[in-house]
Amino acid sequence: MEIQIKDLKVEVEGEEILKGLNLTVKEGEVVGLMGRNGSGKSTLAKVIFGHPDYEITHGDILVDGESIIDMDTDEIARLGIFLGFQSPNAIPGVSLNNLIRTAVHAKDPDGKMENAIKFIRRLKSQLGDLDLSEEFVNRPVNENASGGERKKLEMVQLYNLQSKLAILDEIDSGLDIDALKQVAETINNINQEKGTGFLLVTHYNRLLTHVKPSKIYLMADGQIKKSGGPELAVQLEEQGYDNLIAN
Ligand code: ADP
Ligand code: MG
Repeated sequence: MEIQIKDLKVEVEGEEILKGLNLTVKEGEVVGLMGRNGSGKSTLAKVIFGHPDYEITHGDILVDGESIIDMDTDEIARLGIFLGFQSPNAIPGVSLNNLIRTAVHAKDPDGKMENAIKFIRRLKSQLGDLDLSEEFVNRPVNENASGGERKKLEMVQLYNLQSKLAILDEIDSGLDIDALKQVAETINNINQEKGTGFLLVTHYNRLLTHVKPSKIYLMADGQIKKSGGPELAVQLEEQGYDNLIAN
């Protein structure tokens, strides 16, 4: 699978946020998207999933060559694309167990459901790998969870959904050093075991030193201003956005 953003222009409340953005991510590939606050990174993530606040005025979003901009959010998810939110919301009344089991079933309604006890055992072991308490299995998703715990819970959801492409919006924000390593390891495992492609939105090179992207895009003012290999993230940390983008 390949997602291609083509000359995308997006407005919110009459103001243009994305101003002709081009970017491609293929299954199996790890790509970093960096840019300072307000450059439009989360807007891109939300617009891919058809968020109703954002109006596409120009360009297209293609998955394997087919436009997805008229599709509903659940249809886009069913294609095998995952969004890890910058600030995941709590979902009162819905346990993690229930959410993931229901989502897995919705993706493959004809597939055989895994035995519930085995499923929960696997979920607990995944929580353990991320240093999360087993109690999260039955707690309402993200309720009373810290920012870092919520980010880890996004990873548990992704792990189970077998997505082809995952867009993770600042998955590293709110994580301490150990948690960052655990999340990076989870990304690497999913990438290697399942061949999932990643678009990693981040401010910091630190995550990218653990996951080794093949490509980095630098975004400013609603456009990709520069792209390159992993060295770009290092240069960015040393030189800052202004120097890098002006050059
Ligand atoms: P980033 O994720 O790169 O920090 P965002 O995509 O969140 O940036 O925001 C880009 C710009 O769009 C910001 O100036 C932000 O205030 C504006 N913006 C994003 N979403 C909305 C919205 N729903 N309503 C009004 N302004 C928005
Ligand atoms: Mg953002």
